[in-house]
Amino acid sequence: MIVKFIDLKAQYLSIKDEIDEAIQNVLIDSAFTAGSYVKSFEEKFAKKHNARYCVGVNSGTAALHATLMALEINAGDEIIVPANTFFATPLSVTLSGATPVFVDCEPDYFNIDVNKIENAITGKTKAIIAVHLYGQPAQLDKIKDIADRYNLLLIEDCAQAHIAEYHKRTVGTFGICGCFSFYCGKNLGAYGEGGAIITNDETLYEKLLMIRNLGMSRKYHHNIIGHNYRMAGMQGAILDVKLKYLDKWTEIRRRNADLYRKYLQDCSEIILPNEMDNIKHVYHLFVIRTKKRDELRHFLGNNHIQTGIHYPIPCHLQKAYDYLNYKIGNFPITERLANEIISLPMSEQLNKEEIKYVSEKIREYYSKGVKRCG
Ligand SMILES: *Cc1c(COP(=O)(O)O)cnc(C)c1O
Repeated sequence: MIVKFIDLKAQYLSIKDEIDEAIQNVLIDSAFTAGSYVKSFEEKFAKKHNARYCVGVNSGTAALHATLMALEINAGDEIIVPANTFFATPLSVTLSGATPVFVDCEPDYFNIDVNKIENAITGKTKAIIAVHLYGQPAQLDKIKDIADRYNLLLIEDCAQAHIAEYHKRTVGTFGICGCFSFYCGKNLGAYGEGGAIITNDETLYEKLLMIRNLGMSRKYHHNIIGHNYRMAGMQGAILDVKLKYLDKWTEIRRRNADLYRKYLQDCSEIILPNEMDNIKHVYHLFVIRTKKRDELRHFLGNNHIQTGIHYPIPCHLQKAYDYLNYKIGNFPITERLANEIISLPMSEQLNKEEIKYVSEKIREYYSKGVKRCG
């Protein structure tokens, strides 16, 4: 048996007719950029998250950067971001000219440690980017409370958390806006690149429409500095088709997480991911922790099981940020996790037999050691 980390081909084949037709329609209408297919998707995606507005762009990084541009974040400003996230989160801050200020994560849920945020706030701090890592919402009530007390903007990075819920409400509108990625491997993925911003703020919405379109208010009238961040028409049409399956696919991810839990619950050598109370985790990734991570990963690879590490090098220790002068030891939890985490195969295409097989192999690996698993 070969267990893929994700299987985009199988996904495509399961909805091939609809996707092929959607692509054909875009070709026939020559609706290649922004246009009606993108608009149709934007409306449905906003509705799905109970937001008034949605602006489709061409990546999650663009969604974050356009947001910071629209909010007039500039050089000299500081933006608080978790150290434990995908590099695009702090990168968007750097692209805006501002400085990312990292905060460690907490060990149980992998998200930003709310008790460490206030220490990182200075007179220059303008915003907090809350990342819902792996599909689990960050502690939005506490983060919102801090943001309000210090008069900071709250931006949600929802790139891994489509239709995730915090206290029964979908993520993305707890702060000024929510930024999504439709990278092909995300829970809702384009067949190419894509991203979006959702918001209830009309002023921000109007500004984002201009920023994604070279700052134009109408054709060849460039009112502000923008970018070319328009979503491709084909991606809008593809996302429109795939959005219909998001509820079902999310439930399969959650069921798959339950199956992993069931088959791995008594394996004492690994730590399974925890779920906070009163949230809906959408399992973009199923991340377990173990002391012998690299050895386990190697063993699973030899058994044709693909795994990942999200992420092996914390943001503050990336070479690109040498100039920020962070050191090993600055964020001990994030650094420790980087050495212990391993992402098991997870997608809506993954089936029970595959999860059983992966779990058996993990147990087999540990049963060879001194301690037995289960
Ligand atoms: C994927 C991702 C992004 C960036 O999205 P792209 O579409 O790849 O540019 C940003 N933040 C997080 C947390 C992500 O996982």
